[in-house]
Amino acid sequence: MNPATDIIKNNHRGLINQTSATNYAIDALKQKQFFKLVCGASLADIQMIENLCFVFALAGTHVIDLAPKADVIFAARRGIEKALSRDRSRPVPTPLLMASIQLDKDPHFRKIEVDYSLCDLCSACVKVCPTEAFKIENKKFIYSAEKCYGCGICPSYCHVSALEMIDTKPTPIETLKEMLLLNIEAIEFHFGGNFQKLEEIWSDVVKICQGKPLLLSFSIGSGLLSNEQIKNAANLCYKLAGKDIILQCDGTPMSGGINKKLDKKDKNGQIGYNKDSPSLQVAKIIEEEKLPVYLQISGGTNESSYAMATEAGININGVAIGSYARKLLMPYLNSLDNENQLKEAVNIAKFLVNSVGGKQ
Ligand code: SF4
Ligand code: SF4
Repeated sequence: MNPATDIIKNNHRGLINQTSATNYAIDALKQKQFFKLVCGASLADIQMIENLCFVFALAGTHVIDLAPKADVIFAARRGIEKALSRDRSRPVPTPLLMASIQLDKDPHFRKIEVDYSLCDLCSACVKVCPTEAFKIENKKFIYSAEKCYGCGICPSYCHVSALEMIDTKPTPIETLKEMLLLNIEAIEFHFGGNFQKLEEIWSDVVKICQGKPLLLSFSIGSGLLSNEQIKNAANLCYKLAGKDIILQCDGTPMSGGINKKLDKKDKNGQIGYNKDSPSLQVAKIIEEEKLPVYLQISGGTNESSYAMATEAGININGVAIGSYARKLLMPYLNSLDNENQLKEAVNIAKFLVNSVGGKQ
């Protein structure tokens, strides 16, 4: 028997109503107010995920994007249930869980590997890792792989080259089957630079998903494809999966909200919004294809991203924020039992969620 089957039997979903979660996400896409929290396709820190999902469910996020792992999904559900049961007189809407699935080599699915024999405990990596994946205790170097989401920052800080980025192996069909067994109803496919891979596996995907009301998303990355390939990838996704899919226009993955509004002139004399941001460039290319799909930007996104798209005249349905949201929330995540800390964390999350659609 598949181990996931046993897990499901013991995993009743209590307060979570999948249909209302799907409707909540689709309505937001239609109203161009869609917000997705990206926990990270490789992040498997169970406590961090539960806490992030708790805070963002209270803040009204529409979708939460997760690594395709049973324990990660259960942690997310625990966080959401905690939010739903917190104050029944003021119910919060249920967010939809989306699992990210890798079809080919893709930067979202990487992990660090450590050569402990080289490490001299200089602590440079400890200082730069955004998720505190490294610790030095009693003169021992400790790496928690589940905290690494593959941002790729640390190797360049290690002066003895003890840190190496490793690609994880794609197993799309097995992963998809397991996610469906876990009743996941939103899937995002990442094909990296090889969008034709989608065509190869599509008949299997259709067979496996039959009858399931899935919300499908496809991540199309700017650094991995030429403009022509971006167009072709978008058209292929539409040809295979039809209308009402999400095309995630990915800019600079895991870069932590770099596309800020500039209050002062930058070195190119630019002020205001950076309309050349890679995610907006992808959205612009796809928008010209006039496909009946939802466009959502990601990669370098922050609270300015929706306004930036509007100012650039690019019609998007939503924004996903990952590293930037985690960075803002990190100082609060271990003290959510304190009501003031929780309130502050939820206010920050609401600020991000409400930045989409010009609600603030
Ligand atoms: S810095 Fe980035 S790549 Fe390195 S361990 Fe931390 S999350 Fe992983
Ligand atoms: S930067 Fe390299 S040498 Fe320094 S603590 Fe990290 S792994 Fe060890």
